[in-house]
Amino acid sequence: MARIYLCLAHMSGKEQQFIQEAFDTNWVVPLGPNVNGFEQDLRTFCGGERPVVALCSGTAAVHLALIACGVQAGDEVCVQSFTFCASSHPVTYLGATPVFIDSEPDSWNMDPALLEQAIIERKQKTGRYPKAIIPVALYGMPYRIEEILAIGRKYNIPVIEDAAEGFGSRYKGQVLGTFGQYGVLSFNGNKMITTSGGGALICPDETARERIMWYATQAREAYPYYQHEAIGYNYRLSNICAGIGRGQMTIVDEHIRHHQHIADLYRKAFDGSRGVLFHDNPNADYDSNFWLSTVTVSPDIHIAGEEHAYEQAIQGAVGGAAGVVHQAATLRTDCQPNDNIEALRIVMDKAGIEARPLWKPMHKQPVYRNNPAYVNGISEQLFATGLCLPSGPMVSDEDAKYIIDTLYAAIR
Ligand SMILES: *Cc1c(COP(=O)(O)O)cnc(C)c1O
Repeated sequence: MARIYLCLAHMSGKEQQFIQEAFDTNWVVPLGPNVNGFEQDLRTFCGGERPVVALCSGTAAVHLALIACGVQAGDEVCVQSFTFCASSHPVTYLGATPVFIDSEPDSWNMDPALLEQAIIERKQKTGRYPKAIIPVALYGMPYRIEEILAIGRKYNIPVIEDAAEGFGSRYKGQVLGTFGQYGVLSFNGNKMITTSGGGALICPDETARERIMWYATQAREAYPYYQHEAIGYNYRLSNICAGIGRGQMTIVDEHIRHHQHIADLYRKAFDGSRGVLFHDNPNADYDSNFWLSTVTVSPDIHIAGEEHAYEQAIQGAVGGAAGVVHQAATLRTDCQPNDNIEALRIVMDKAGIEARPLWKPMHKQPVYRNNPAYVNGISEQLFATGLCLPSGPMVSDEDAKYIIDTLYAAIR
């Protein structure tokens, strides 16, 4: 049986036609018909109202959204702690400080009460309000967007939605990324759709779109020569990569339905009755794309081999696309998945199934040890007990059954 990966890209077959066209017409540059076409496809997919700028990564999209919101050195930005580092790192690129906000247990995303507490306390401590709020659609699950937007309005702080994992997820029928000031999308190799690497920023209006475009193309002024009055970035998407994106957009609905179908199978199997619980939409307002299906495992559940968890250093990346080049200093850290989770990951790995721990909260990451954090223990507890399971278009019904059987068979 072939190895089952967490989330593998799946091509429609149309990608190569768009790429061939780019070569035939000599548009092998970071602009052109594929970039324009991809942006139009994205705009239509997101409801048609907001312009979209295609960029070379989701990280670049976060970076430019922050700049557009006026974030500068010395500022603070409220970022969901339970996330991938691309939500918060661009804040530090600007010399600003991420203030980490813990999660609430239903969506696993930014806790609105903690957010408001943080905003009030930061104002008391620093004399200034944070400059932006970044909630994250973790594993595709929508955040408590209405409450977060209301808080943003109350304190006049823009909301940047990190919908990198939530492309096509909806809240009350509306696509994520179209609620806040800006919406971030990612098309990295393992996301809902891929351009090999790429991202996009959903903008509130045409003026904002032009400004983002300007920053993404080295902030060049309208002279016949290169005149620069601000610092810009080389962040546009290549016309070749955009060709992949156009091909992917022909099957995006199918992809999302398949992710949701695999989630259905896990939902039925992991109902909590045997200590394993599927992370589901909190209620009918939420419509996750289930980019990755996740479960939590009770600490009382014992897994074969758990007494040997963390005895060996990791060889290569766990599920990572790039591979780890740095040796770990220790086998354990002060914040890690429970031994039964690590044992389960190893059992699955040996059975040819790639499973991965949840994101380690940013407020527990050594690089952010001195950052302000407003915590309630939720994300740490989820990180200790959670596991991501193979999702995506390459996972068949048969694979899902094998994954479910393998997981249950590992319980002692
Ligand atoms: C993938 C991802 C991003 C953007 O990542 P890129 O790899 O730069 O496209 C941002 N935020 C989250 C939460 C992500 O998972």
